[in-house]
Amino acid sequence: MRLDKRIALITGGARGIGRGIAEHYAREGAWVAVADLDGDAATDTARAIEAAGGTAMGLAMDVTDEQAVDRGVAEIVNQWGGLHIALANAGIQHIDPLDKLAFADWQKVMRVHLDGAFLVTRAALQQMYAGDGGVMLYMGSVHSLEASPLKAPYVAAKHGMLGLCRAVAKEGASHGVRSNIICPGFVRTPLVDKQIPEQAKELGISEQEVISNVMLKNTVDGEFTTVEDVSELAVHLAAFPSAALTGQSVVVSHGWHMQ
Ligand code: NAD
Repeated sequence: MRLDKRIALITGGARGIGRGIAEHYAREGAWVAVADLDGDAATDTARAIEAAGGTAMGLAMDVTDEQAVDRGVAEIVNQWGGLHIALANAGIQHIDPLDKLAFADWQKVMRVHLDGAFLVTRAALQQMYAGDGGVMLYMGSVHSLEASPLKAPYVAAKHGMLGLCRAVAKEGASHGVRSNIICPGFVRTPLVDKQIPEQAKELGISEQEVISNVMLKNTVDGEFTTVEDVSELAVHLAAFPSAALTGQSVVVSHGWHMQ
């Protein structure tokens, strides 16, 4: 097992990509704290992991709430004695052209991705620095590295998370902390399913055209990236044994973006 008894926090872990990673981490032996805005769904996911033989706890946590993040991390440390891996994965999307974008919508996307990633980072680093170091991971996107129309706040926030990841790699190194950002292409989760009709309406094309001409147009094979693809990479990055791999963005996108 590649993550035997490693204690991991995954935000936005109740569904989608976060849930897939939580389940994969548990299969690799990690003890997984599933944190989510939807506390009941986080508990359900943790129970499902335990039913499959893993170790998990569910936490209600809004990553934009400073006290909630600090409280959640304290609970993990109180119950399990430390924190080795933290993945800032919670995220939302908002589709609008820039000239019609409400300030409140811009701020909401920034808060969840950037403020959330910062608060999780700070709370996790305090524990990792007090222990033997650890691994910070961020759920970026191909949009950490390039832009698409109608997604300005998301693109800006995901680029910001790349900057945070790199800052953590520099500051954390002397404390034994490594930091990397995962950059997936499109994965069929509730987040993506919601934006297909929204983009179709905004662009005046069919939903099938959004999939083939917008989302998958620049992939090498017209395929969606899967939750399993992303979770395998997340295990690999968490288990990687040295700081040879730190401050990196790793793209998993069927060739949509090549760096
Ligand atoms: P999803 O909508 O299926 O799941 C997101 C989860 O985050 C949900 O459980 C939701 O309750 C939780 N969440 C939202 N706001 C939160 C908050 N304030 N505090 C705590 N939890 C919160 O989305 P997903 O597709 O699984 O996306 C997960 C991450 O992967 C996001 O950061 C997203 O930007 C990123 N990503 C997704 C894709 C994709 O194609 N699906 C591609 C690249 C990156």
